[in-house]
Amino acid sequence: MSNGVAGAPPSTRDREAKSKMTIYGPPPIEYHRIARKLKESEPTHNPRYPFPVSPMPTTTQKPSLLGMAPSFGFGDRLGLATPGHLDALASEGGPIKGIFAQQSIREMTRTKRSPQQVMADAARTLEQEGFNDVWGADADHLKTPQDVDATAAAGFVFFTIDPSDHVDGQADTYDGPALEQKFAAVRPDAAWFEHYCGRTVQVPDGPKIAFEPHTVMRAAVKYGRALAHALELGAYIRAAADRLGQPHEIELSVDETPQPTTLAEHYIIAEQCREAKMNLVSLAPRFVGDFEKGVDFKGSVEELADSLAQHAAIARDLGPYKLSVHSGSDKLSMYAPVARATRGLFHVKTAGTSYLEALRVVARHDEALFRRIVDFARRRYDQDKATYHVSGTVAGEPPSDQIADVRDLERIYLGSWAQLDAVGDGEGRGFTNGGRQILHCTFGSVLTDPDLGSKLRQLLESEPATHRQVLAEHFERHLRALRRGL
Ligand SMILES: [Zn+2]
Repeated sequence: MSNGVAGAPPSTRDREAKSKMTIYGPPPIEYHRIARKLKESEPTHNPRYPFPVSPMPTTTQKPSLLGMAPSFGFGDRLGLATPGHLDALASEGGPIKGIFAQQSIREMTRTKRSPQQVMADAARTLEQEGFNDVWGADADHLKTPQDVDATAAAGFVFFTIDPSDHVDGQADTYDGPALEQKFAAVRPDAAWFEHYCGRTVQVPDGPKIAFEPHTVMRAAVKYGRALAHALELGAYIRAAADRLGQPHEIELSVDETPQPTTLAEHYIIAEQCREAKMNLVSLAPRFVGDFEKGVDFKGSVEELADSLAQHAAIARDLGPYKLSVHSGSDKLSMYAPVARATRGLFHVKTAGTSYLEALRVVARHDEALFRRIVDFARRRYDQDKATYHVSGTVAGEPPSDQIADVRDLERIYLGSWAQLDAVGDGEGRGFTNGGRQILHCTFGSVLTDPDLGSKLRQLLESEPATHRQVLAEHFERHLRALRRGL
């Protein structure tokens, strides 16, 4: 019999999986027991972990839970962007609440900032500006208990679980026998298989979902291990927050995977989170279409809106929880449809786009430095883009010495609102420049380069007014586009 990989012996995991299986399937996973065990254990300690587990900075500003309020994540890789973010929110935010401390573990590693620094930079600015509304703090893309310990200690209250390393990104391509083979291997992590197999669910005001055996098998293959991992990490987050006497809310994200999340898969994931009593406030499925970094949405907005409306119906029924749009930077053309389809139950995350606006300040105040950053980014891009979804190429964009006027170089590498406005309805459309992706992916290399990184920071510190103004304009456009759908 073929086992999917010609000639390969069954792995230990496959053999274990088979030996544990019974006619009724594997025993249910006891998440409460796991949570209890984790609660009793002390925070994990790994001497090689990159971040210290240091307490939240002392400040009058503390993040809160945002619950079901529509929310917008202002990721700030430099720790200097909050003033501009605040201005945009104040003028165009309306009911949308801001998340001002938000960094993924990957970003913190690349920028060599600790969770405590990320929190301190945001909280200090909010204090200085006399901000008096609630705000959120998102420990983004957490993968391990150590990530939880470090971010919970620093005061984060919104935790984004990222189990994507455990997602089988090729699951949609397996045929009958291969699918069954893969399913046997993940069966112990998918105790819920029997519960769904053969059921049909009519989601109120939403889709009718038929859980055909192969549909459920595919869901188990694709997300079984990821879901088990997410539930364990969710229990760990609860224990860690309880231990610190802090509130917590959780987002589950599977956005960074190649194949879209189907409605059946969404339903299973969300219902299992509810069964495990996870404090789920938002879910980031992998939506249809292309969510490339640093540019507008690519794909059919109508198709996306249709799919969002169906996902949103599941989210209302099984939560409610919000639908979360990651890589949300610059996706202006889909913002109104997102807000409309989710009926305001949305969270949008942005991060890299604030760094790009910082580079706009460089382009306007230090031409030589901007040219150096462009050329440095071109050299680094092919290596640095590895973990990002992008299609811009170095060959597709000119080196800096081919463009005489720095304003043209800014337009090519960062885009221009004036130019977008000139060709019609600039509102509700985002940039599409491939050059943005070259600059977007190379932020870590630039910021940690001893010369470029410190020069960039110095410049931003000496030009706070421009920095604030370009960020404000950039995010006012983002927020206006979203509110068009509210
Ligand atoms: Zn993400």
